[in-house]
Amino acid sequence: MTYQPIIGIEIHVQLKTASKMFCGCKNYPFGAKKPNFYTCPVCLGLPGALPVPNKKAIEWTIALGLALKCQINSLSKFDRKHYFYPDLPKGYQISQYDSPFCFNGKVTTSQGEVSIRRIHLEEDTGKLIHASVNGKKVTLIDFNRSGVPLIEIVSEPQIHSPAQAKECAKKIFQIIRYLNLSDADMEKGQLRLEANVSLRPKNRQDLPNYKVELKNINSFRFLEKAIETEIKRQTEILLQGKTPVQETRGYNAEKNLTYPQRSKEEAADYRYFPEPDIPPIRISSQWLESIKNSLPLDYETLLASWEKSYRVEKHLVSLLFDTHHQAAWLEKLFQKAKRLGIEVRRLVNFLANKKIKVNLFAHEEPQKILDLFHEQTQTISIEVEELERAIDQVIKHNPQAVADFRKGKKNVLNFLLGQTLKLLGKKVDPKQIIKLINEKIS
Ligand SMILES: [Zn+2]
Repeated sequence: MTYQPIIGIEIHVQLKTASKMFCGCKNYPFGAKKPNFYTCPVCLGLPGALPVPNKKAIEWTIALGLALKCQINSLSKFDRKHYFYPDLPKGYQISQYDSPFCFNGKVTTSQGEVSIRRIHLEEDTGKLIHASVNGKKVTLIDFNRSGVPLIEIVSEPQIHSPAQAKECAKKIFQIIRYLNLSDADMEKGQLRLEANVSLRPKNRQDLPNYKVELKNINSFRFLEKAIETEIKRQTEILLQGKTPVQETRGYNAEKNLTYPQRSKEEAADYRYFPEPDIPPIRISSQWLESIKNSLPLDYETLLASWEKSYRVEKHLVSLLFDTHHQAAWLEKLFQKAKRLGIEVRRLVNFLANKKIKVNLFAHEEPQKILDLFHEQTQTISIEVEELERAIDQVIKHNPQAVADFRKGKKNVLNFLLGQTLKLLGKKVDPKQIIKLINEKIS
């Protein structure tokens, strides 16, 4: 390929604070009994209503910034971002423009470091519902989501492959879940992915003079696929000597193609200006210190320490937990296992293979999991002669199964294994039995 992809990602995450960003309404859009249930003059954008920022949401934004190695602005403010759309009752969104809470962070991926340009806090919009009422096509608006705290994380365009974009987004997602700031359920729209993609000739160092934003991406796999597809599309255009149009494109996962949505607004189109109803926010060193102190052990440091003390594989153990509370529970389990002489590495493999997640059993005592582990893995060793005698008998009594196996029906092995175990009446390592049967009848 003669072109190098230049990719940046943008992630929006709804915070799971108890109340909304600028009012006291319950932050529970997905669980509301009916549309417009959790609303008030502030989040409905009624004239004269005044916003009051949610302190917790600000602290969580800064906590995420610290976890992503960002610098924190000591003075930050909110700004109005104007655009006209029915899901935005005020005619503007309260967001952050030139002084976001966090900037200049980083994420480490297997293909190199990716800088985080900024993390800012804003409010989510209402939700449009396209429906049919009395046979008429209508668009309804639900404001339960209006004013939900929303974090925006923007990376620098330092990503150079679709796989790296996916890995980077996933790492950010893991850290958000680990800090327990959001459930980040993509099906519920709690986490939304976007990417900007452009290509440059391989011998160039400057940024291309255009970029295409990809929206409507609702899984990490689709993020990777959408970028792959877009790279192909842009390559074809460039090879014809043309420049791709700067625009926003959606991604259709079924057809695996991107399609134009709208040409991209410039920042000036939004007429940003400081939100006059909310004073600038000073992040004092004491406040910052208290947020730092509330952070759990850094995610990567935790995995590295487990790898060192228990010899577990990082990618396997990371499948077992989401939040730092669950990680703390796992630590208890590991310590207990170690005291009982159980190899933690084997325990982790067992849990990961069974796809057991800590949230399924975190209310249980660690002992219960260790019992399950014992029950399902404990095997006894027996003399090879005894085992061979049993297998010979099973083979003798099941000629049809043996013939089937020789014709290529490999799953017959499981049947013969079952017969052998039955005959033995003991829990012997199934792998050992299968190996022996295989040797005898292959
Ligand atoms: Zn409200």
